Amino acid sequence: MNNNNKRSHKAQKLLERFEKKLNRQMVSSLVSCVHCGNCTEACHYVLANPGDPTYAPAYKADQIRRIFKRHFDWTGKVFPWWVHAKSVFTDEDLEQLKDIVFGKCTNCRRCSINCPMGVDFATFNRMARGLLVSVGVMPEGVAVVSKDQWEIGNQMGVLKEDYVETIEWLSEEMEMEYNDPRAIIPIDRENANVVYSINPREVKYDPRTISDAALIFYAAGENWTMPSECWDMTNFGLFSGDDDLGGSVARKLYEKVSELKGKKLVISECGHGYRSTRCEGPNWAGMDINDFEMESSVITMLRYIGEGRIKVDKSKNNNSYTFHDSCNNARSCGLFEEPRELLDLVVDDFREMYPNRVENYCCTGGGGAMSMSEYTPLRLKSAKIKAEQLKATGAKVVVTSCHNCVDGLSDLIKHYKLGMEVTQLVNLVANALVIEKAPEVV
Ligand code: SF4
Ligand code: SF4
Repeated sequence: MNNNNKRSHKAQKLLERFEKKLNRQMVSSLVSCVHCGNCTEACHYVLANPGDPTYAPAYKADQIRRIFKRHFDWTGKVFPWWVHAKSVFTDEDLEQLKDIVFGKCTNCRRCSINCPMGVDFATFNRMARGLLVSVGVMPEGVAVVSKDQWEIGNQMGVLKEDYVETIEWLSEEMEMEYNDPRAIIPIDRENANVVYSINPREVKYDPRTISDAALIFYAAGENWTMPSECWDMTNFGLFSGDDDLGGSVARKLYEKVSELKGKKLVISECGHGYRSTRCEGPNWAGMDINDFEMESSVITMLRYIGEGRIKVDKSKNNNSYTFHDSCNNARSCGLFEEPRELLDLVVDDFREMYPNRVENYCCTGGGGAMSMSEYTPLRLKSAKIKAEQLKATGAKVVVTSCHNCVDGLSDLIKHYKLGMEVTQLVNLVANALVIEKAPEVV
């Protein structure tokens, strides 16, 4: 490595760690771009900021790629001027990189699926975030949320006593309403068929989603439980690029399910939580998960209706609805037909959003963007494309299976004065429930 004496300590450390992140998939994405421009129009930042080439996915990718070329690829070592290879030297260089990888990309992967060469920019953008985080360069919100998840065990710093108190309060309310000792939220029950994990946003800001889920489990006669600790299925490691945090959070949840001898871990509606827990977590944690299954609550609810364990009356949801696919659920995990099948069972007036499924646009609050207040004006400006997409449906309510999307969509709906409501499938299913007699617990 040349010019070490001119390089800041942080820049030097970042370069040393860069090499360790280079697996075959990463290198393939770093070397394969032919700058065809196919991905440019895929990015909501480009569409909302016309005429500014610095928002193009390939341009943003090149800011990381040029470092790779300069230090780890033979072309950049031999002909640096030819392949635009360039290093990082100062802390200011790192700050500029931070503004690109955190501020101008939500890691939504829409450009990735539109690249004919298979370049997955979002994957190495996440890697670059992780490198910056490892030397302490990150938006303040990312530092705060990461610290809460490392120290308190969940993204929103919810203390155990507050969590348990909220669950007990919701449980007592349900028991009183249905006048049935089985209409409760069991905490730390062993050998349950379902261990239900949630997003801390639910306990802090949206407890109705917990009581709605509890009502569905009760109506289905499910033998279920919620853990008193290690219940957070979200994982800020996905956003920050910190694989160690990702592994630690996932491991705690998996170990808790095993400790309770749960048969299935059901993950409430959250795109990045589902991707982190079901898809990426075992790799980050270095664990094989063999003693229990993992399932999205969307599939659980659909299964209950299909098996006749719950009955629903769609006339109870009498508004007009559209559906927003979360990037992590749909593009990264292939979960896009099941929510539509469920919607079809619980609402009458459904209006598809275009484009949809894997081509849907990000809610613009993804990739941890909601925690990075310094980029809020740019986020809301870039949400214009999403606002137009929502408005074109003519629906009054947008449904999504992601807590992060609920926040991102609510924010832009307010900003662009769309007058729409945001809800989740769990709310619609609970509202449509027909409970004729007290169910037997399976
Ligand atoms: S579509 Fe792929 S190859 Fe073309 S510019 Fe974008 S990343 Fe590069
Ligand atoms: S991952 Fe999404 S936000 Fe990032 S550059 Fe690609 S399309 Fe744009």
